[in-house]
Order: sequence, then C-alpha cells, then structure tokens
Amino acid sequence: MSPKSPAPADGVRLPIYFDNNATTPCDPKVVEAMLPWLFQNFGNPASRTHSFGWAANEAVELAREQVATLIGASPKEIVFTSGATESDNLAIKGVARHYARKGKHIITVATEHKAILDSCHALERDGWEVTYLGVNAEGLISLDELKAAFRDETVLVSVMYANNEIGVVQPIKAIGAMCKERGVLFHCDAVQALAYEKIDVRELNIDLLSISAHKMYGPKGIGALFVRRGRPRVRVQSMIDGGGHERGMRSGTLATHQIVGLGKAAELARLSIESGEVNKIRALRDRLWVGLQENLDELILNGSWEHRLANNLNVSFAYVEGEAMMMGIKQIACSSGSACTSASLEPSYVLRAMGVEVELAHTSIRFGFGRFNTEAEVDEALALIVEKVRFLREMSPLYEMVKEGIDLKSIQWEAH
Ligand SMILES: *Cc1c(COP(=O)(O)O)cnc(C)c1O
Repeated sequence: MSPKSPAPADGVRLPIYFDNNATTPCDPKVVEAMLPWLFQNFGNPASRTHSFGWAANEAVELAREQVATLIGASPKEIVFTSGATESDNLAIKGVARHYARKGKHIITVATEHKAILDSCHALERDGWEVTYLGVNAEGLISLDELKAAFRDETVLVSVMYANNEIGVVQPIKAIGAMCKERGVLFHCDAVQALAYEKIDVRELNIDLLSISAHKMYGPKGIGALFVRRGRPRVRVQSMIDGGGHERGMRSGTLATHQIVGLGKAAELARLSIESGEVNKIRALRDRLWVGLQENLDELILNGSWEHRLANNLNVSFAYVEGEAMMMGIKQIACSSGSACTSASLEPSYVLRAMGVEVELAHTSIRFGFGRFNTEAEVDEALALIVEKVRFLREMSPLYEMVKEGIDLKSIQWEAH
C-alpha cells in the first residue's frame, strides 16, 4: 500500500512529506534508469568474458562519471559504497589506519553525524586522540578554535558540509585551505548538501567526501566516497576485503542497479542546481517560516539563518512538547528533536551542543523540503500546525503564566 491516500480533487494529498533531510523519494527518472539493470541487463560488472558483464561495467562507469562530474572530481576518484555511513567509516577509519605512523590525532565537530562520531569513538578505543570542536549558538564552528586544535600528529580533519538536523553550512572553503596549508587531510560529509549546493572538491580543497544517494532523490543502500588522487595521493585502508573491487578500497560485487540510480540522481542534482530549482525549494521553506511567525509567538529558529541549506527549517515551539506536537500533526511527516525513540529521552545532541536548553530542545521540530513539495502542501501544513500549537498551548499552564507576564525563571518551584 502506498503511504499516501489518493489526492482529493481539490486538495492536498495527505500525509504531507516534509522530512527530506531524513530521506528523499526516488525521482521517477532515477527509477526508470535503474529498472533495466535488474532483469534484462543483470550481468556482473566484473565479468570480463561476455557482453552481460561488459554492459553492466559500462553502466557502472557512466554512473561513476556522473557522480564525479557533480563534485568536480575525476571518475577514478569515486569509490562506491553501501551508503554514507560506510563512506564516513571508510574515510575516518581508513585514513586513520593508513596514516597511523604519521600521527594519531583527528579533529572533528560535536555536531557531526553519528557515523562520524561513532567511527571516532571506535578509534579512541584503539588509542587515537580526537578533538571534538564545539559550535556557537548558531551551530557554526570557530576557525580560531580549529587553528588552535591542529597538532603535529594531526592526520585528518572531518567537518560536514551541512548539518542534517539544522541545515547549518560550515565554512568549508576556509577549513579546506587551513588543512592544505598544514598538509592535513580534509574529509567532508556532504550528504545533505549535494542536491542543493554547487560543490567543487578542488575549489574547496577537499581530500575525501561522503555521498549518499537517498538524500538526493536516489535509492537507499548506495553511496560513494571521493578519494582524491593528485599529489600526494590520498590512501585509505579498506574495511571490506575480498575480490579487490574499487581498486582494493571496497570489495564486493558492484550493485549495478543501485549505482545506476546514484549516477542518475547525481546527474539530476547537477541539472537541478544549474537550473536554480533550489530557489523554488527555498521559497517553500520561507513560506512556512513566515506563515508560522505571522500566526504564532514564542518561536525560536534553531541554527544560523544565513549559513543554512535552502531546504531546512528547524523551529522550537516553546511550551509545546515535540512528541505531543508530532502526535497532533500526524498528517505532516517531519521529525522532532526529542529522540524519544531512544531509551534515553535525551534531546538532540546537536541542539545541546549549540547551548539550547533541554526544555527548548524537546520542543524542536525539523521540516525538510524537497523537489516534490508544493505551495499547497505548505499552506495545508501551516494551517494544521497553527491550529495544533494554539490548542496545545491553551492547555499549557507555563505558556499562560508567560502570557500573564510572569518570568518563569523568577519562580521558586517547590522542591519534592
Ligand atoms: C543520512 C546521513 C548519513 C548516512 O547516510 P546513509 O546513506 O543513510 O548511510 C551520513 N551523514 C549525513 C550528514 C546524513 O544526513
């Protein structure tokens, strides 16, 4: 069954999908490109002795070129993986293990994706030292702090292009330049940004870059790692050994249909960026934010507005618990900053790293807009959200007190 019910003649199809930072639907053009590689052309790209293999290999090499073109790389610098989690692992652990003799220090950021942070934790258990840079209230790192964090033993800096929760874009060009000056490798997890921002690995001095298809209108379960060749060439130690595929960096039979899908998604992303489609997506995001501000008070934008992906909005609706909100607006697919799915009830570590208080972090909602969203969906969602927030706040004694002019911080809560 499709998660969407049929569109009513005059209305918006529900539920509305505003969670494009979590995953995106496959573009129909991607699906179309993938299909022939499942049955008709099912060959193993590594089969060198017949036309089934040759055709599959040709398709894989075309996709490699499409991915390389998107980021200004050469096809030989693209290693296919099972997704960005693997790409991040390969970048961090692969570089660490290959360059261990040079030094055992890595610099990254507290707000990185778990695939980065947990890879770093794994290395720490093996004796590496990791510096986790903090971020300011806007979610941005300080270049001075980065400068101070470099040591003689530093082999790698890993900073994401744009954050998956708050969409904040880090000063990648400046970071790349600092790393180059010091001869330190620079890895960038660019998963969230690739469909929306022009990224050129040469211009930005990026040595390794992680890619995931399903955040850019491609299929799940496929990604890539850019590993710069040039001088000196970047080396990573493989994590998955076997037939020596992908120049020994990642063994395993290449998933032709998935790779074709990633390639097509990369080509569409490039065309989309060139055509300015991102402006349409930004307009949807802005329309919701303006509408919310016109209708509700006590809203807090999480993360820099200026240094931000066009498709991301992350808002705290003060005095409205995120989970209650999510239950109330089930017709809108978005996500909450209070990770109640985990046993811990810990609010988002990204918001906490920015200094957002626990209570406010629990009220945060992330809206992620994408290629297939419409203005009508924004208007429908806006009406639903405004109604629900007003309703929930009417039941909130705290909100009422604030509206009566009471400073909550001045209250001496009774201790139990
Ligand atoms: C989704 C995501 C990943 C993981 O990618 P998968 O392909 O799902 O493994 C890594 N980094 C960021 C920033 C992401 O948003």
